[in-house]
Amino acid sequence: MLYAQIHLTLPPWIHDAVDGERLYVDDIAKVELAIALSARNVDAGSGGPFGAAVFDGHGRLLGVGVNRVVPQTCSVAHAEMMAYMTAQARTQRARLNESGDRIVFATSAQPCCMCYGATFWAGIDELLIGARAEDVMALTEFDEGPLPADWRGELERRGIAVRQDILRDAACDVLRRYASGGGANY
Ligand SMILES: [Zn+2]
Repeated sequence: MLYAQIHLTLPPWIHDAVDGERLYVDDIAKVELAIALSARNVDAGSGGPFGAAVFDGHGRLLGVGVNRVVPQTCSVAHAEMMAYMTAQARTQRARLNESGDRIVFATSAQPCCMCYGATFWAGIDELLIGARAEDVMALTEFDEGPLPADWRGELERRGIAVRQDILRDAACDVLRRYASGGGANY
């Protein structure tokens, strides 16, 4: 029978790992959360070594995501996509900044070509990145896909500010740990 709906979930530990009341005021605090989620996902064996989070202009958390591709048999269930979708579901806004609020998105590693594409339509104003795409490809088996040579400029020309290399070493440590089998069950 054809399926007429899909259902994606974050791991049950997500509620323990996130303080929904806290304000994440600066770039480091925001990326730190994304990296902490990526590490927890590795430790729990609940997906790949990636985490992401969406914040409003005051630093309040709107949504989080971790990689759920293998557990949910879903190639689009990357951390960034999960974070966008949970934030959109919570705010009931397809474009997160359509209300005029400034939206900041933090990810433990540079978005792959799919998540990069999704970033244009998600309605964010700032993109904060931990590890670089080259780190992901050097340290793990993951392919980032065909990103435009000027991927950053394409975002900035559409009003999305990009800041990279935030806690890059810490983000790379999680990738390394995942690649060495630390915590992952598959
Ligand atoms: Zn992706």
